Formats: sequence, C-alpha cells, structure tokens
Amino acid sequence: METGKIITPQELLTRHPWLRPYGGALLGWNGLIDELATQIEMRYAEQKIALSVEAFHLRQVKEKFGELRFYCVSAVPIQDLIQNATLKSTWLCQECGSAGCLMQNERRWLRTLCDKHATDEYTARPSLKKVTVDGVTFTFFEEGQLDAVMPSDYLVIR
Ligand SMILES: [Zn+2]
Repeated sequence: METGKIITPQELLTRHPWLRPYGGALLGWNGLIDELATQIEMRYAEQKIALSVEAFHLRQVKEKFGELRFYCVSAVPIQDLIQNATLKSTWLCQECGSAGCLMQNERRWLRTLCDKHATDEYTARPSLKKVTVDGVTFTFFEEGQLDAVMPSDYLVIR
C-alpha cells in the first residue's frame, strides 16, 4: 500500500460499493480500508461465496482511540484481516495517510496523526497497552480506563 496518497470517498465507493454505510469520511485511512476491502473480496472469492447482503453486513467503520474499528457480520471469517488493518491504522495519519503515531490532546482525546496534522494541542503519547484474553482485546489507559473489543464485534454467520 502506498502511504500519503488520499483515496477520495467517491473512488473508494466506486471500487467497493458495499462500503457505502461507511461513506469514506476517514480520508487518511481510505487507502488502508481499500486494501482491507480488496482482501475481504478476495477471501469471499476464494470461498466461492458472493459478497451479498445475505452473507455480509457492514455495521460500522469508525475511528476509536486513534484506531480503525471495522464492525461487520460476515459469513466468511475475516477477523485476521480486520485485526491487521486495525494494527496498521495505528501508524498512519487518519487525516492524510502519511506515517503517524498516537497523539493525545489536553482533553485526552486520542487520534493517530502525522507531524503536519498534529496541531499544537496534540502531542505524541506512548501506544496503549493491549491484552487479549479468550479473544477479547482489552485496551488500557494510564488513567485506569478500559476498552474491550469482543469477538462478537466480528460476528460469523454459521
Ligand atoms: Zn497527516
């Protein structure tokens, strides 16, 4: 994947119309989301299952704590692809796709930004600590807050 090249929402949705519920608002990550969408399409093709509304439902794509979150219900297991994209999002600026890192402002809002897009109020901070127990990924903050991503966030239809 080429970093620093913006894929417009229109380009992204033309290539992958099923991403329409997402809309393409996270400009800097559209390249990453394009790559993930292509991998999902390839996996469905390998399994000879059509990427139809019966097999796949995109629930939500958003940024949370400076990371990409991609919530869906899928007939084909794709958790590994989503987890890989989430990991990559932690070093790509969400505004422009250039190399970035986790930043925090005074209100403790987290975003992944490059030096150019980190305004004065945002400063780099160490990555969040993560622990995975029985498929549930917990993210820890120094302030003692906790966020958990359940395996059910990547549901597989059986
Ligand atoms: Zn940037």
